Amino acid sequence: MSNLHTEIFEKSKKMVPGGVHSPVRSFKGMESTPKFFKSANGAYFTDIEGKDYIDFCMSFGPLVLGHQNPAVKEKLTQALGRGWSYGACEPYSVDLAEYLLSRLPHVDQIRFVNSGTEAVMTALRLARGVTKKNKIIKFNGCYHGHVDAMLIKAGSGLAGAAESSSLGVPKGVADDTLILELEDLDGVKKCFEDHKDEIAAIIVEPLPANNGLLIQDQEFLQGLRDITKANDALLIFDEVISGFRVAFGGMAELTGITPDIVTYGKVIGGGLPVGALAAKTEIMEHLAPVGGVYQAGTLSANPLAMVGGLETLKQMTKENYEKLEQNTLRIVNIFKKWLAEYNDGQFSNYNIIHHSSLFWIVPGDKIKSVGNIPGNIGEDFVPLFELLLEKGIYLSPNAYEVGFGSLAHDEDVAKDLEKRLWS
Ligand code: PMP
Repeated sequence: MSNLHTEIFEKSKKMVPGGVHSPVRSFKGMESTPKFFKSANGAYFTDIEGKDYIDFCMSFGPLVLGHQNPAVKEKLTQALGRGWSYGACEPYSVDLAEYLLSRLPHVDQIRFVNSGTEAVMTALRLARGVTKKNKIIKFNGCYHGHVDAMLIKAGSGLAGAAESSSLGVPKGVADDTLILELEDLDGVKKCFEDHKDEIAAIIVEPLPANNGLLIQDQEFLQGLRDITKANDALLIFDEVISGFRVAFGGMAELTGITPDIVTYGKVIGGGLPVGALAAKTEIMEHLAPVGGVYQAGTLSANPLAMVGGLETLKQMTKENYEKLEQNTLRIVNIFKKWLAEYNDGQFSNYNIIHHSSLFWIVPGDKIKSVGNIPGNIGEDFVPLFELLLEKGIYLSPNAYEVGFGSLAHDEDVAKDLEKRLWS
């Protein structure tokens, strides 16, 4: 059926691989073609045909205040009037760094980059530069951006058997990434025995949220801290999703575990392109121009992004974190009730795994590692996704992506969600 969306999608496909600039946007595996959105406000966005949707994707996480937060918009408008890129020193990144560092006791210094991928790429180089070792442990099911060394998964779940998840990643790169399973501390210990004095760092999403929501036990994360310390390796917390979302200080704050390097993205820029890495001074001073680990960026610490990030983070007070959780819990409960009731139980096998303002709609419970995820959730998700889309409720078009709440998803939005679901 031809409509405005398919027309634009076809046009885009002629010019852009798959018609999209990031793969999940393509609605691959879904029945419908991607919706094209023309505007967004609060918890809603509107497609090019004028239909509105409650947005539970929220740009994959950054928009913790909702779309077009008025105070952020005001600051951005003022910033626009001052010019939008200098490629030179400016005070706005200093303001953001000061605000962050005075509230993040586990780090002393920060470097702003343009994306989560860049933050991870630099963190890995830094870890290798500091330790003078090459190998990195990564966990099956954790996503760390499209850095070559991170696009690797375990072959048949075999620890240490690296295998690329993408063409174009050289075997030499894959060989230095050791893939282990979440929740398997014995596997981590054994890996350090097998690769004595070779492992630079463990990188982990302390709240893995890119292969569903795989909430880890405190003991596992603490175990990673202890093992890395005992082996002169660094612990990298990739808090691109969890940073400033589960708490201001992310999972480092919630767990009380201090990583050696933290990577940030998403909320830190409030929806503008920002990533960052942060650590104690003795690690950060290995970065250029002080140290020998090179990193640079034409648009790094872009003045608009710095101002947008700062105003977003200023609004993330303790009260607002509580509100964010309440908003999300309200929504999760509505979805749960509807999933149980709809069409005589068509979706009653679904459950919602939920942590702070993140939720994952999945036919399963107590899932903590990739091996526990039922095999066919991708296909099963299609009718649910399409039905919700029809009702004006937008989830990320992929069964393995989580949903996000925001401060804009308030009681009125919850009422509207109920109305849409039971309509
Ligand atoms: N790390 C994590 C944990 C992420 O969730 C993501 C993005 N989903 C990235 C890194 C990469 O960030 P970006 O898409 O901004 O490059």
